[in-house]
Amino acid sequence: MTKIHSASCKCGKVSFEIELANYNVGLCHCTDCQKISGSHFANIYYKGEIEYKGAEYITVFDSSNWAKRAFCNVCGSNLYYKFKDAEGYSLAAGLFDDQSDFVLKKQLFTDKKPAYINIANQTDDMTEAEIRAKYNF
Ligand SMILES: [Zn+2]
Ligand SMILES: [Zn+2]
Repeated sequence: MTKIHSASCKCGKVSFEIELANYNVGLCHCTDCQKISGSHFANIYYKGEIEYKGAEYITVFDSSNWAKRAFCNVCGSNLYYKFKDAEGYSLAAGLFDDQSDFVLKKQLFTDKKPAYINIANQTDDMTEAEIRAKYNF
């Protein structure tokens, strides 16, 4: 795939262009993602480094002992989740201008999903206990 995907926050101060290796979207239902995203966090994993336009508008903070999150400090758009000791970013899917190729593949922390959300897509689902067992944290 050689398609360049453009992405930006709501106000446009933060933007970037990347080539995605796949279009697999995950939904995270953990309580942190609910607080930060207002609901589940739809994200797409990107392994490389990103050259941001408007990097000065990005605020990064420790959301746990093992991860950082970032948002646009003008409009508040959720930008990414990143493990501190691993490469790559879980980028907010909604930042991308063209999501027509994106496919919902998995849901994480399904045991934390609010009862009012019922997603019909066939996905690989993991509970918190399953995630902690698999990734050992
Ligand atoms: Zn913004
Ligand atoms: Zn989460």
